[in-house]
Amino acid sequence: MNKKLLPLDLIKELRSIAGLKVFNLSSDRERFSRDFFDYSPVLKKQLQGCCADLVVRPDSVESVLSVAGSCHRYGIPLTIRGAGTGNYGQCVPLFGGIVMLMGALRQIRDLDPGNGQVTVESGCLMGDLEKYLISQGRQLRLLPSTWRSASIGGFVAGGSGGIGSVKWGFLRDPGHLLGLEVVTVEEKPQKLQLDAKAAEALNHAYGTNGIITALTLATSQSVAWQEVTIDCETWSIAVNLINSCARAAVDLQLCSLLEEKIIEKIPHWSGPPIAQHRLLILVAPDGISTIERLAKSVGALFNLLGPENYRTGSGLRELTWNHTTLHMRALDADWTYLQMLLPQPELEAMNTLKKKWGDDLLWHLEAVRQQGVQRLAALPIVRWRGIDSLKKLMSDCREIGAVLFNPHVFTVEDGGLGVVDVDQVEMKRRFDPQGILNPGKLKGWL
Ligand code: FAD
Repeated sequence: MNKKLLPLDLIKELRSIAGLKVFNLSSDRERFSRDFFDYSPVLKKQLQGCCADLVVRPDSVESVLSVAGSCHRYGIPLTIRGAGTGNYGQCVPLFGGIVMLMGALRQIRDLDPGNGQVTVESGCLMGDLEKYLISQGRQLRLLPSTWRSASIGGFVAGGSGGIGSVKWGFLRDPGHLLGLEVVTVEEKPQKLQLDAKAAEALNHAYGTNGIITALTLATSQSVAWQEVTIDCETWSIAVNLINSCARAAVDLQLCSLLEEKIIEKIPHWSGPPIAQHRLLILVAPDGISTIERLAKSVGALFNLLGPENYRTGSGLRELTWNHTTLHMRALDADWTYLQMLLPQPELEAMNTLKKKWGDDLLWHLEAVRQQGVQRLAALPIVRWRGIDSLKKLMSDCREIGAVLFNPHVFTVEDGGLGVVDVDQVEMKRRFDPQGILNPGKLKGWL
Protein backbone atom coordinates (compact mmCIF):
# COMPACT_ATOMS: atom_id res chain seq x y z
CA MET A 1 0.00 0.00 0.00
CA ASN A 2 1.26 3.49 -0.80
CA LYS A 3 0.76 6.42 1.54
CA LYS A 4 -2.13 8.60 0.30
CA LEU A 5 -2.93 12.24 1.01
CA LEU A 6 -6.03 12.60 3.15
CA PRO A 7 -8.85 13.96 0.91
CA LEU A 8 -10.39 17.19 2.21
CA ASP A 9 -13.87 15.74 1.61
CA LEU A 10 -13.07 12.86 3.97
CA ILE A 11 -11.98 15.30 6.67
CA LYS A 12 -15.22 17.24 6.16
CA GLU A 13 -17.24 14.04 6.33
CA LEU A 14 -15.53 12.93 9.54
CA ARG A 15 -16.09 16.33 11.14
CA SER A 16 -19.82 16.01 10.48
CA ILE A 17 -20.18 12.66 12.32
CA ALA A 18 -22.17 13.12 15.53
CA GLY A 19 -20.22 12.25 18.69
CA LEU A 20 -16.86 12.03 16.89
CA LYS A 21 -13.96 14.01 18.31
CA VAL A 22 -11.32 14.90 15.73
CA PHE A 23 -7.69 15.64 16.65
CA ASN A 24 -5.42 17.18 14.06
CA LEU A 25 -2.67 18.88 16.07
CA SER A 26 0.67 17.34 15.12
CA SER A 27 1.42 16.71 18.82
CA ASP A 28 -1.79 14.63 19.11
CA ARG A 29 -1.19 12.80 15.85
CA GLU A 30 2.33 11.90 16.97
CA ARG A 31 1.38 10.81 20.48
CA PHE A 32 -1.45 8.61 19.23
CA SER A 33 0.79 6.99 16.61
CA ARG A 34 3.21 5.46 19.10
CA ASP A 35 3.20 2.59 21.54
CA PHE A 36 6.01 1.02 23.55
CA PHE A 37 7.88 -0.27 20.47
CA ASP A 38 11.01 1.48 21.70
CA TYR A 39 11.69 -1.55 23.97
CA SER A 40 13.06 -2.89 20.70
CA PRO A 41 15.91 -0.89 19.14
CA VAL A 42 15.03 -2.65 15.87
CA LEU A 43 11.42 -1.47 15.86
CA LYS A 44 12.43 1.96 17.11
CA LYS A 45 14.45 2.49 13.97
CA GLN A 46 11.69 1.14 11.70
CA LEU A 47 8.64 2.80 13.24
CA GLN A 48 9.55 6.10 14.79
CA GLY A 49 8.67 8.14 11.67
CA CYS A 50 5.16 6.68 11.22
CA CYS A 51 2.36 9.13 11.94
CA ALA A 52 -1.41 9.34 11.51
CA ASP A 53 -2.83 12.09 9.30
CA LEU A 54 -5.81 12.48 11.59
CA VAL A 55 -6.97 10.98 14.89
CA VAL A 56 -10.62 10.43 15.78
CA ARG A 57 -12.41 9.30 18.91
CA PRO A 58 -15.97 7.94 18.50
CA ASP A 59 -18.31 7.98 21.49
CA SER A 60 -20.67 5.23 20.28
CA VAL A 61 -20.87 2.17 18.06
CA GLU A 62 -22.89 4.30 15.60
CA SER A 63 -19.97 6.71 15.16
CA VAL A 64 -17.60 3.73 14.69
CA LEU A 65 -19.86 2.54 11.85
CA SER A 66 -19.75 6.01 10.26
CA VAL A 67 -15.93 6.23 10.48
CA ALA A 68 -15.61 2.75 8.95
CA GLY A 69 -17.89 3.77 6.06
CA SER A 70 -16.00 7.02 5.40
CA CYS A 71 -12.56 5.33 5.42
CA HIS A 72 -13.85 2.63 3.08
CA ARG A 73 -15.31 5.18 0.65
CA TYR A 74 -11.96 6.96 0.32
CA GLY A 75 -9.74 3.85 0.68
CA ILE A 76 -7.85 5.42 3.58
CA PRO A 77 -6.00 3.27 6.21
CA LEU A 78 -7.77 2.92 9.54
CA THR A 79 -5.77 1.82 12.57
CA ILE A 80 -7.52 1.08 15.85
CA ARG A 81 -5.97 2.12 19.14
CA GLY A 82 -6.89 1.05 22.66
CA ALA A 83 -4.54 2.48 25.28
CA GLY A 84 -1.42 2.23 23.08
CA THR A 85 0.62 0.09 25.52
CA GLY A 86 1.61 -2.58 22.98
CA ASN A 87 5.29 -3.45 22.53
CA TYR A 88 5.48 -4.29 18.84
CA GLY A 89 4.10 -1.16 17.19
CA GLN A 90 0.78 -2.98 16.84
CA CYS A 91 -1.21 0.27 16.72
CA VAL A 92 1.36 2.30 14.78
CA PRO A 93 -0.13 3.43 11.44
CA LEU A 94 2.51 2.26 8.96
CA PHE A 95 0.85 4.12 6.08
CA GLY A 96 -0.63 7.10 7.95
CA GLY A 97 -4.36 7.64 7.49
CA ILE A 98 -6.79 7.62 10.40
CA VAL A 99 -6.08 6.39 13.92
CA MET A 100 -9.28 5.66 15.84
CA LEU A 101 -9.19 5.81 19.65
CA MET A 102 -11.58 3.39 21.34
CA GLY A 103 -11.30 4.81 24.86
CA ALA A 104 -14.78 6.39 24.95
CA LEU A 105 -16.49 3.02 24.42
CA ARG A 106 -16.00 1.78 27.96
CA GLN A 107 -19.32 0.59 29.29
CA ILE A 108 -19.58 -2.69 31.17
CA ARG A 109 -22.78 -3.96 29.58
CA ASP A 110 -23.53 -7.13 31.50
CA LEU A 111 -22.24 -9.57 34.11
CA ASP A 112 -24.10 -12.86 34.14
CA PRO A 113 -24.40 -13.82 37.83
CA GLY A 114 -24.98 -17.46 36.90
CA ASN A 115 -21.81 -18.14 34.92
CA GLY A 116 -19.67 -15.02 35.54
CA GLN A 117 -19.45 -14.11 31.84
CA VAL A 118 -18.88 -10.40 31.38
CA THR A 119 -19.77 -8.32 28.31
CA VAL A 120 -17.83 -5.10 28.07
CA GLU A 121 -17.07 -2.43 25.47
CA SER A 122 -13.62 -2.68 23.97
CA GLY A 123 -12.20 0.64 25.23
CA CYS A 124 -12.87 -0.15 28.89
CA LEU A 125 -9.64 -0.05 30.89
CA MET A 126 -8.80 -3.42 32.43
CA GLY A 127 -8.14 -1.71 35.78
CA ASP A 128 -11.74 -0.37 35.81
CA LEU A 129 -13.14 -3.70 34.68
CA GLU A 130 -11.17 -5.63 37.32
CA LYS A 131 -12.31 -3.23 40.05
CA TYR A 132 -15.94 -3.74 39.04
CA LEU A 133 -15.57 -7.52 38.81
CA ILE A 134 -13.95 -7.76 42.24
CA SER A 135 -16.85 -5.77 43.70
CA GLN A 136 -19.08 -8.54 42.30
CA GLY A 137 -16.94 -11.42 43.63
CA ARG A 138 -15.33 -12.16 40.24
CA GLN A 139 -12.03 -11.27 38.56
CA LEU A 140 -10.33 -11.42 35.17
CA ARG A 141 -8.52 -14.69 34.54
CA LEU A 142 -5.67 -13.17 32.53
CA LEU A 143 -4.14 -9.71 32.79
CA PRO A 144 -1.07 -8.08 31.26
CA SER A 145 1.23 -6.39 33.76
CA THR A 146 -0.09 -3.14 32.19
CA TRP A 147 -3.55 -4.10 33.46
CA ARG A 148 -4.19 -0.70 35.08
CA SER A 149 -3.79 1.29 31.88
CA ALA A 150 -4.48 -1.17 29.00
CA SER A 151 -7.89 -1.59 27.36
CA ILE A 152 -9.65 -4.94 27.25
CA GLY A 153 -10.06 -4.71 23.46
CA GLY A 154 -6.35 -3.98 23.03
CA PHE A 155 -5.42 -6.93 25.25
CA VAL A 156 -7.47 -9.37 23.19
CA ALA A 157 -6.42 -7.88 19.83
CA GLY A 158 -2.75 -7.33 20.72
CA GLY A 159 -1.78 -9.17 23.90
CA SER A 160 -1.23 -12.81 24.71
CA GLY A 161 -1.24 -13.57 28.43
CA GLY A 162 0.47 -12.57 31.64
CA ILE A 163 -0.69 -12.54 35.25
CA GLY A 164 -2.91 -15.64 35.49
CA SER A 165 -1.12 -17.56 32.71
CA VAL A 166 0.34 -19.95 35.30
CA LYS A 167 -3.18 -21.26 35.79
CA TRP A 168 -5.19 -20.17 32.75
CA GLY A 169 -2.72 -20.44 29.90
CA PHE A 170 -2.97 -17.88 27.11
CA LEU A 171 -5.68 -15.69 25.60
CA ARG A 172 -5.98 -17.77 22.45
CA ASP A 173 -6.76 -20.94 24.41
CA PRO A 174 -10.42 -21.85 23.90
CA GLY A 175 -12.62 -20.75 26.79
CA HIS A 176 -11.40 -17.21 27.48
CA LEU A 177 -12.97 -15.24 24.63
CA LEU A 178 -16.63 -16.21 24.29
CA GLY A 179 -17.96 -13.69 21.80
CA LEU A 180 -17.36 -10.40 20.05
CA GLU A 181 -19.36 -7.50 18.70
CA VAL A 182 -17.55 -6.35 15.60
CA VAL A 183 -17.88 -3.55 13.03
CA THR A 184 -16.87 -4.38 9.48
CA VAL A 185 -15.16 -2.00 7.04
CA GLU A 186 -17.24 -2.26 3.89
CA GLU A 187 -19.30 0.00 1.68
CA LYS A 188 -22.12 -0.47 4.16
CA PRO A 189 -20.38 -1.33 7.45
CA GLN A 190 -22.23 -3.83 9.60
CA LYS A 191 -22.34 -4.46 13.31
CA LEU A 192 -22.07 -8.24 13.79
CA GLN A 193 -22.24 -10.54 16.78
CA LEU A 194 -19.63 -13.33 16.59
CA ASP A 195 -19.77 -16.50 18.69
CA ALA A 196 -16.69 -17.96 20.37
CA LYS A 197 -15.63 -19.93 17.28
CA ALA A 198 -15.88 -17.00 14.86
CA ALA A 199 -14.27 -14.65 17.40
CA GLU A 200 -11.06 -16.74 17.40
CA ALA A 201 -9.92 -15.19 14.12
CA LEU A 202 -9.87 -11.69 15.65
CA ASN A 203 -8.03 -12.80 18.79
CA HIS A 204 -4.45 -11.45 18.53
CA ALA A 205 -4.93 -10.19 14.95
CA TYR A 206 -3.80 -6.61 15.77
CA GLY A 207 -7.12 -5.11 14.63
CA THR A 208 -6.39 -6.07 11.02
CA ASN A 209 -9.63 -7.96 10.38
CA GLY A 210 -12.43 -6.14 12.19
CA ILE A 211 -13.15 -3.40 14.70
CA ILE A 212 -14.04 -4.89 18.07
CA THR A 213 -16.68 -2.81 19.84
CA ALA A 214 -17.57 -5.24 22.65
CA LEU A 215 -16.32 -8.56 24.05
CA THR A 216 -17.77 -11.38 26.13
CA LEU A 217 -15.19 -13.03 28.36
CA ALA A 218 -15.08 -15.74 30.99
CA THR A 219 -14.09 -14.61 34.49
CA SER A 220 -13.12 -16.51 37.62
CA GLN A 221 -14.12 -16.36 41.27
CA SER A 222 -12.17 -13.58 42.97
CA VAL A 223 -9.44 -14.68 45.38
CA ALA A 224 -7.63 -12.63 48.03
CA TRP A 225 -4.17 -13.29 46.54
CA GLN A 226 -1.28 -13.40 49.00
CA GLU A 227 2.17 -12.10 48.08
CA VAL A 228 5.07 -14.44 48.76
CA THR A 229 8.75 -14.18 47.89
CA ILE A 230 11.33 -16.96 48.10
CA ASP A 231 15.08 -16.33 47.93
CA CYS A 232 17.31 -19.10 46.60
CA GLU A 233 21.06 -19.34 46.85
CA THR A 234 21.64 -21.06 43.50
CA TRP A 235 19.97 -20.85 40.08
CA SER A 236 19.39 -24.59 39.96
CA ILE A 237 17.54 -24.60 43.32
CA ALA A 238 15.46 -21.65 42.10
CA VAL A 239 14.52 -23.30 38.78
CA ASN A 240 13.61 -26.60 40.45
CA LEU A 241 11.54 -24.72 43.00
CA ILE A 242 9.57 -22.63 40.48
CA ASN A 243 8.70 -25.90 38.75
CA SER A 244 7.61 -27.63 41.94
CA CYS A 245 5.52 -24.63 43.07
CA ALA A 246 3.83 -24.37 39.65
CA ARG A 247 3.03 -28.09 39.66
CA ALA A 248 1.79 -28.29 43.26
CA ALA A 249 -1.93 -28.57 44.05
CA VAL A 250 -2.21 -24.90 45.01
CA ASP A 251 -4.08 -22.02 43.43
CA LEU A 252 -1.53 -19.61 41.91
CA GLN A 253 -2.05 -16.37 39.99
CA LEU A 254 1.62 -15.61 39.41
CA CYS A 255 4.86 -17.56 39.75
CA SER A 256 7.91 -15.66 38.47
CA LEU A 257 11.65 -16.03 38.96
CA LEU A 258 14.17 -13.23 38.60
CA GLU A 259 17.92 -13.60 38.52
CA GLU A 260 19.79 -11.94 41.37
CA LYS A 261 21.23 -9.23 39.06
CA ILE A 262 17.70 -8.15 38.15
CA ILE A 263 16.44 -8.19 41.75
CA GLU A 264 19.31 -5.89 42.70
CA LYS A 265 18.26 -3.26 40.17
CA ILE A 266 14.47 -3.16 40.06
CA PRO A 267 12.38 -1.36 42.74
CA HIS A 268 12.60 -3.10 46.11
CA TRP A 269 8.85 -3.67 46.47
CA SER A 270 9.51 -7.38 46.96
CA GLY A 271 11.83 -6.66 49.89
CA PRO A 272 15.53 -5.74 50.04
CA PRO A 273 17.81 -7.79 47.77
CA ILE A 274 20.03 -10.31 49.55
CA ALA A 275 22.25 -11.39 46.64
CA GLN A 276 20.00 -14.36 45.82
CA HIS A 277 17.63 -15.29 43.00
CA ARG A 278 14.01 -14.53 43.90
CA LEU A 279 10.66 -16.14 43.21
CA LEU A 280 7.65 -13.79 43.23
CA ILE A 281 4.39 -15.60 43.87
CA LEU A 282 0.69 -14.77 44.20
CA VAL A 283 -1.04 -17.66 45.93
CA ALA A 284 -4.49 -18.27 47.41
CA PRO A 285 -4.56 -18.24 51.24
CA ASP A 286 -5.03 -22.02 51.44
CA GLY A 287 -1.86 -22.63 49.41
CA ILE A 288 0.58 -20.61 51.55
CA SER A 289 1.60 -23.45 53.86
CA THR A 290 2.38 -25.75 50.91
CA ILE A 291 4.55 -23.13 49.18
CA GLU A 292 6.31 -22.52 52.50
CA ARG A 293 6.95 -26.24 52.95
CA LEU A 294 8.32 -26.61 49.40
CA ALA A 295 10.64 -23.61 49.90
CA LYS A 296 11.96 -24.80 53.25
CA SER A 297 12.54 -28.32 51.97
CA VAL A 298 15.26 -26.97 49.62
CA GLY A 299 16.71 -24.54 52.15
CA ALA A 300 15.26 -21.42 50.49
CA LEU A 301 14.10 -18.34 52.39
CA PHE A 302 10.31 -18.04 52.47
CA ASN A 303 8.76 -14.64 53.08
CA LEU A 304 5.01 -13.96 53.33
CA LEU A 305 4.40 -10.29 52.46
CA GLY A 306 0.63 -10.52 53.05
CA PRO A 307 -2.50 -9.80 51.04
CA GLU A 308 -2.06 -8.07 47.72
CA ASN A 309 -3.03 -4.40 47.72
CA TYR A 310 -4.34 -3.54 44.23
CA ARG A 311 -4.46 0.15 44.91
CA THR A 312 -0.76 0.95 45.23
CA GLY A 313 0.67 0.00 41.82
CA SER A 314 3.77 -1.27 43.63
CA GLY A 315 2.83 -4.89 44.15
CA LEU A 316 4.64 -8.03 43.00
CA ARG A 317 2.59 -8.15 39.80
CA GLU A 318 4.13 -4.82 38.75
CA LEU A 319 7.60 -6.39 38.89
CA THR A 320 6.81 -9.25 36.52
CA TRP A 321 6.05 -9.96 32.85
CA ASN A 322 7.20 -7.03 30.76
CA HIS A 323 7.25 -4.75 33.80
CA THR A 324 10.58 -6.40 34.66
CA THR A 325 11.90 -5.08 31.33
CA LEU A 326 10.31 -1.69 32.00
CA HIS A 327 12.14 -1.30 35.34
CA MET A 328 15.48 -2.40 33.88
CA ARG A 329 15.10 0.00 30.96
CA ALA A 330 14.23 2.84 33.31
CA LEU A 331 17.79 2.51 34.67
CA ASP A 332 19.50 1.83 31.37
CA ALA A 333 17.70 2.10 28.01
CA ASP A 334 20.33 -0.19 26.45
CA TRP A 335 18.48 -3.20 27.85
CA THR A 336 16.03 -4.93 25.57
CA TYR A 337 14.45 -8.39 25.80
CA LEU A 338 13.37 -11.65 24.19
CA GLN A 339 10.39 -13.94 24.73
CA MET A 340 10.47 -17.73 24.53
CA LEU A 341 9.15 -21.00 25.75
CA LEU A 342 12.07 -22.91 27.28
CA PRO A 343 12.85 -26.49 26.28
CA GLN A 344 12.46 -29.19 28.93
CA PRO A 345 14.48 -29.83 31.03
CA GLU A 346 15.28 -26.13 31.22
CA LEU A 347 18.35 -25.88 33.41
CA GLU A 348 21.04 -27.24 31.12
CA ALA A 349 19.74 -25.21 28.17
CA MET A 350 19.75 -22.01 30.22
CA ASN A 351 23.23 -22.72 31.56
CA THR A 352 24.54 -23.22 28.01
CA LEU A 353 23.25 -19.79 27.00
CA LYS A 354 24.45 -18.13 30.21
CA LYS A 355 27.96 -19.50 29.74
CA LYS A 356 28.09 -18.00 26.28
CA TRP A 357 26.35 -14.66 26.89
CA GLY A 358 27.28 -13.92 30.54
CA ASP A 359 25.67 -10.79 31.97
CA ASP A 360 24.42 -9.68 28.54
CA LEU A 361 21.58 -12.12 29.24
CA LEU A 362 19.74 -11.93 32.57
CA TRP A 363 17.15 -14.60 33.23
CA HIS A 364 13.52 -13.73 33.97
CA LEU A 365 11.19 -16.76 34.02
CA GLU A 366 7.41 -17.04 34.21
CA ALA A 367 5.63 -20.31 35.00
CA VAL A 368 2.83 -20.76 32.44
CA ARG A 369 0.32 -23.36 31.38
CA GLN A 370 0.88 -24.09 27.72
CA GLN A 371 -1.73 -26.22 26.02
CA GLY A 372 -2.63 -27.76 29.35
CA VAL A 373 0.96 -28.46 30.44
CA GLN A 374 3.01 -26.55 33.03
CA ARG A 375 6.03 -25.00 31.30
CA LEU A 376 8.54 -22.22 31.88
CA ALA A 377 8.47 -19.17 29.65
CA ALA A 378 11.39 -16.76 29.67
CA LEU A 379 11.52 -13.02 29.04
CA PRO A 380 15.27 -12.55 29.48
CA ILE A 381 16.69 -9.06 29.70
CA VAL A 382 19.21 -8.66 26.92
CA ARG A 383 22.01 -6.14 26.55
CA TRP A 384 21.68 -4.42 23.15
CA ARG A 385 24.89 -4.95 21.17
CA GLY A 386 23.48 -4.40 17.69
CA ILE A 387 21.33 -6.38 15.31
CA ASP A 388 23.93 -9.04 14.44
CA SER A 389 24.45 -9.89 18.08
CA LEU A 390 20.67 -10.10 18.63
CA LYS A 391 20.31 -12.43 15.64
CA LYS A 392 23.12 -14.62 16.96
CA LEU A 393 21.48 -14.81 20.37
CA MET A 394 18.12 -15.73 18.82
CA SER A 395 19.79 -18.43 16.79
CA ASP A 396 21.50 -19.77 19.95
CA CYS A 397 18.11 -19.82 21.71
CA ARG A 398 16.59 -21.86 18.88
CA GLU A 399 19.59 -24.17 18.95
CA ILE A 400 19.01 -25.10 22.58
CA GLY A 401 15.39 -25.91 21.65
CA ALA A 402 13.57 -22.75 22.80
CA VAL A 403 10.47 -21.59 20.90
CA LEU A 404 10.98 -17.88 20.24
CA PHE A 405 8.23 -15.24 20.05
CA ASN A 406 10.25 -12.45 18.51
CA PRO A 407 9.42 -9.04 20.04
CA HIS A 408 11.48 -7.18 17.44
CA VAL A 409 9.01 -7.48 14.55
CA PHE A 410 5.70 -5.80 13.79
CA THR A 411 3.64 -8.39 11.91
CA VAL A 412 1.18 -10.75 13.57
CA GLU A 413 2.88 -13.80 12.11
CA ASP A 414 6.54 -12.92 12.75
CA GLY A 415 5.87 -12.28 16.44
CA GLY A 416 3.98 -15.57 16.75
CA LEU A 417 4.86 -18.96 15.38
CA GLY A 418 5.80 -17.57 11.98
CA VAL A 419 2.92 -19.22 10.14
CA VAL A 420 -0.09 -17.67 8.42
CA ASP A 421 -3.42 -18.25 10.17
CA VAL A 422 -5.83 -18.89 7.32
CA ASP A 423 -8.87 -18.00 9.45
CA GLN A 424 -7.44 -14.56 10.25
CA VAL A 425 -6.88 -13.86 6.58
CA GLU A 426 -10.31 -15.17 5.59
CA MET A 427 -11.93 -12.92 8.20
CA LYS A 428 -10.04 -9.96 6.76
CA ARG A 429 -11.34 -10.82 3.31
CA ARG A 430 -14.90 -10.78 4.69
CA PHE A 431 -14.72 -7.83 7.09
CA ASP A 432 -12.13 -5.60 5.41
CA PRO A 433 -12.13 -6.50 1.70
CA GLN A 434 -10.14 -3.38 0.75
CA GLY A 435 -7.40 -4.23 3.26
CA ILE A 436 -7.40 -0.81 4.93
CA LEU A 437 -7.46 -1.96 8.59
CA ASN A 438 -3.99 -1.56 10.12
CA PRO A 439 -2.32 -2.25 6.76
CA GLY A 440 1.08 -3.95 6.66
CA LYS A 441 0.63 -5.97 9.85
CA LEU A 442 -0.99 -9.18 8.55
CA LYS A 443 1.56 -10.97 6.37
CA GLY A 444 -0.98 -13.57 5.24
CA TRP A 445 -2.96 -10.77 3.58
CA LEU A 446 0.08 -9.29 1.89
P1 FAD B 1 -3.12 -1.16 22.04
O1 FAD B 1 -1.65 -1.12 22.20
O2 FAD B 1 -3.82 0.12 21.91
O3 FAD B 1 -3.51 -2.10 20.82
C1 FAD B 1 -2.97 -3.37 20.67
C2 FAD B 1 -3.44 -3.92 19.32
O4 FAD B 1 -4.83 -4.15 19.36
C3 FAD B 1 -3.23 -2.97 18.15
O5 FAD B 1 -2.91 -3.72 17.01
C4 FAD B 1 -4.58 -2.32 17.94
O6 FAD B 1 -4.78 -1.94 16.59
C5 FAD B 1 -5.52 -3.43 18.34
N1 FAD B 1 -6.77 -2.96 18.93
C6 FAD B 1 -6.93 -2.20 20.02
N2 FAD B 1 -8.25 -2.03 20.25
C7 FAD B 1 -8.91 -2.68 19.27
C8 FAD B 1 -10.29 -2.84 18.95
N3 FAD B 1 -11.24 -2.32 19.70
N4 FAD B 1 -10.62 -3.55 17.85
C9 FAD B 1 -9.66 -4.12 17.08
N5 FAD B 1 -8.34 -3.98 17.33
C10 FAD B 1 -7.97 -3.28 18.41
N6 FAD B 1 1.09 -7.83 26.96
C11 FAD B 1 0.69 -9.05 27.41
O7 FAD B 1 -0.01 -9.77 26.69
N7 FAD B 1 1.05 -9.49 28.66
C12 FAD B 1 1.80 -8.74 29.50
O8 FAD B 1 2.05 -9.15 30.63
C13 FAD B 1 2.26 -7.46 29.04
N8 FAD B 1 3.03 -6.68 29.83
C14 FAD B 1 3.45 -5.47 29.36
C15 FAD B 1 4.28 -4.65 30.17
C16 FAD B 1 4.75 -3.44 29.70
C17 FAD B 1 5.62 -2.60 30.56
C18 FAD B 1 4.38 -3.00 28.41
C19 FAD B 1 4.85 -1.68 27.89
C20 FAD B 1 3.55 -3.78 27.61
C21 FAD B 1 3.08 -5.01 28.08
N9 FAD B 1 2.24 -5.81 27.30
C22 FAD B 1 1.85 -7.04 27.74
C23 FAD B 1 1.73 -5.32 26.01
C24 FAD B 1 0.40 -4.51 26.19
O9 FAD B 1 0.49 -3.67 27.31
C25 FAD B 1 -0.81 -5.39 26.38
O10 FAD B 1 -0.92 -6.38 25.39
C26 FAD B 1 -2.11 -4.56 26.43
O11 FAD B 1 -3.15 -5.38 26.82
C27 FAD B 1 -2.48 -3.87 25.14
O12 FAD B 1 -3.67 -3.12 25.38
P2 FAD B 1 -3.84 -1.66 24.76
O13 FAD B 1 -5.21 -1.17 25.11
O14 FAD B 1 -2.74 -0.77 25.18
O15 FAD B 1 -3.76 -2.01 23.23
